[in-house]
Amino acid sequence: MPEVFRALQPLREWLRPHRIGTVALVPTMGHLHRGHLDLVRAVRAQASAVVASIYVNPTQFGPNEDLEQYPRTLEADLELLDEVGCDCAFVPSDSVMYPQPPLTRVEVPELAGDYCARQRPQHFGGVCQAVARLFNMVQPDVAAFGEKDYQQLQIVRRMTADLAFPVRIVSVPTAREPDGLAMSSRNRYLSAAERELAPQLYRVLHESAKLLQEGGEQVQVLAQARERLEQLGFAVEYIELAQQESLQSATRDTHKLVLLTAAQLGETRLIDNIQFEV
Ligand code: AMP
Repeated sequence: MPEVFRALQPLREWLRPHRIGTVALVPTMGHLHRGHLDLVRAVRAQASAVVASIYVNPTQFGPNEDLEQYPRTLEADLELLDEVGCDCAFVPSDSVMYPQPPLTRVEVPELAGDYCARQRPQHFGGVCQAVARLFNMVQPDVAAFGEKDYQQLQIVRRMTADLAFPVRIVSVPTAREPDGLAMSSRNRYLSAAERELAPQLYRVLHESAKLLQEGGEQVQVLAQARERLEQLGFAVEYIELAQQESLQSATRDTHKLVLLTAAQLGETRLIDNIQFEV
């Protein structure tokens, strides 16, 4: 089983001999699934120690979001981490993570104004704060993030570069259920009927990307996609086409694109994206 550290000092002492090689960090909020395990696998071979952090970070939740009900399943998480050869889990309490209320902000407003940030204005500030703190606490050489949270990935990449964190960011493709639904700790909130419908989100993304690749008109393809999802029962927050990495609006001469969406199904908010080239 992985070593479990709840305090910082013992983790740092344990890490010291591993620093001769590569220390990898996989930040998570727990309730782990194959997507998280893929992150561990992606860095396992190159690392002398893999640290998975498990922390449900309150500063990235809005006032009416699911902080309280967010699933906490530490024992099962540790078993899964063991299966993929993760060496240790850093499970800080709130007082270890934030010994005093943070007064410092870490933000990347250029990348955090649109898409998910419209509905969740404090979210990415909270993510950056937690990730920046984790980078300084664990001091990894490498850190893995999932492409499922595409906007988050680009924000973390940019924050890391702008603040010269000596951390290499590894991105990992979205792990999906056999029917295409992106794996997420929040999928457990879906009712049986919603779970059946949920894979349509990716299906519509996939079909829309194909139409765009075939020369379909952007405004029309996106409007059709939205309409189809709404007809199926999704409340679409956004479905938009952007340039990969910069997340700027796609122009006619953009070749590397990402189609991003967030939609509510009942009480559950789902996000997904698909990257493609034209
Ligand atoms: P979370 O526990 O939801 O905060 O996610 C922790 C990390 O796992 C983030 O880097 C996510 O992007 C990544 N992740 C979550 N779900 C998936 C998935 N289905 N495929 C790949 N990575 C994922």
